Amino acid sequence: MASTVYTYNFPTRIRFGPGARHELAAELTALGIQRVLIVTDKDVAQLPWFPELETSLTSFGAATFKGVWGNPVVSQVKAGVEAWKAHGADGIVAVGGGAPMDVAKAIALMAHHPGHLFDYEDGHSIRPIDQPIPPIVALPTTAGTGSEVGRSTVISDDDTHAKKIMFDPQLLPRVVLADPELLLGLPAKITAATGMDALTHLIEAFLAKGFNPLCDGIALEGIHLVAENLKACVDFAQRLRAGEVFDEATAAAHLAARGGMLNASMMGAIAFQKGLGVTHSCAHALSTVYDTHHGLANGIMLPAAMRFNLAAAPEQFLRMARVVKPGATNGQELVDWIVGLSESIGIPTSLGALGVDPDALDPLVAVAIQDGCHPLNPRAVTETDFYAIYQDAF
Ligand SMILES: [Zn+2]
Repeated sequence: MASTVYTYNFPTRIRFGPGARHELAAELTALGIQRVLIVTDKDVAQLPWFPELETSLTSFGAATFKGVWGNPVVSQVKAGVEAWKAHGADGIVAVGGGAPMDVAKAIALMAHHPGHLFDYEDGHSIRPIDQPIPPIVALPTTAGTGSEVGRSTVISDDDTHAKKIMFDPQLLPRVVLADPELLLGLPAKITAATGMDALTHLIEAFLAKGFNPLCDGIALEGIHLVAENLKACVDFAQRLRAGEVFDEATAAAHLAARGGMLNASMMGAIAFQKGLGVTHSCAHALSTVYDTHHGLANGIMLPAAMRFNLAAAPEQFLRMARVVKPGATNGQELVDWIVGLSESIGIPTSLGALGVDPDALDPLVAVAIQDGCHPLNPRAVTETDFYAIYQDAF
């Protein structure tokens, strides 16, 4: 009898809980790091807790590189590598959402490797990753990409916006300090968009072809956490924006909801070692052609992509539907739930909101069909299908 042996990877040490960030210095000491480069973006560097975090690393000669914004590009990585070399660092603390996380990983990769970052593109490399990669400690400040528990980095070309993936097990942060207090100031729009990215990871991982029941179980519980917490996080963010001062019970509920989404986000990224699907291929093309925020692109595409997938995996849709709606009797109820959630947190319901022209889909389809995510989608996707899915998203 033929047999197949599968790989399951769950290697990240995660310290989760309010105040976990205060363990940073102790973790750096344990890793033997003596001189640290903090990698973040301008917005995170302005948050009230950031100066205290910097000060806590004075004995590690901490310098901060904050040259990250938008979708991360090669020039940001180059500037970061310059900062790394000028500072003589031996370890990186990555603080932020997906962009600073990915730039930090790319800086670590290029710290001791010659040539251009894309020389090391996964599957198309022209140089080996054979030099040491400095240790990274990650502190996520959004609940979306889950890049802090991943072993790859996604960086775009400055001019073409084409996304390239670099992969190496050493790019996995040695420790993640997952502190929900760092997410309390996240605006509603970013909370919603990043949350939809996490949800897309969970759903696409569960649906992805392949055998990984560990990932399937994580994905289902992650979907449950999104159902319980995403709308609440967005509501709390809006109330804070409106100037409300939370009493103790409300503040505790906000913190708990942020913690739920932080776990869901990491669970999504852990689960998608199994694979992703057609939503991500559509979203990657939107980011390439229109520079759309990754989470927002997924949020807009998810309903249409799932309408496309439903007939190909009805049992799996039903299992997910029962997570978000106990007693559900068919997979369509999951799709309806996604649409309702999306609308309730302010995700645009049409690609028109991004300025996409429904009669000019060729550039999007050309990128999407080349994307590496859809081959693991439960239903095969042709060029014609991509046109139809984009049309359905208007
Ligand atoms: Zn994603």
